[in-house]
Amino acid sequence: MEAKESKLKSIIQGTCPKCHVGRVFIHKNPYASWSFTKMHDHCSHCGQSFDPEPGFYQGAMYVSYALTLAITFPVGLLLLFVLNVDLFVVLAVLTFLLLAFLPVIFRLSRLVWLNFFIRYRPSASSKQPE
Ligand SMILES: [Zn+2]
Repeated sequence: MEAKESKLKSIIQGTCPKCHVGRVFIHKNPYASWSFTKMHDHCSHCGQSFDPEPGFYQGAMYVSYALTLAITFPVGLLLLFVLNVDLFVVLAVLTFLLLAFLPVIFRLSRLVWLNFFIRYRPSASSKQPE
């Protein structure tokens, strides 16, 4: 149970999934810069690689798809069937929402994907990558 809480903490705080100290992304605020995609190569604290193998983050697309559905499905259904908004307005609202949340969805997807494969080791303080 502690590991699950730790993974959630790592995902929300944007920290290294192995030590929960080093930051994964260069800029803390995803909206601070257009370079919201820039990541560190390795953890500054434990040395964990944030790009373990070529094409590692292609799998994060599935997480991104799930997050996108989690936003569009309830909002779309609410607007269409509860508030009876016109379909084109619904599409415009959903497009705006997805563009507005693009940096957050991008980062969450990668952080979830990283945490899916890298185990939390609180004692990992040396700069020895695995
Ligand atoms: Zn680390």
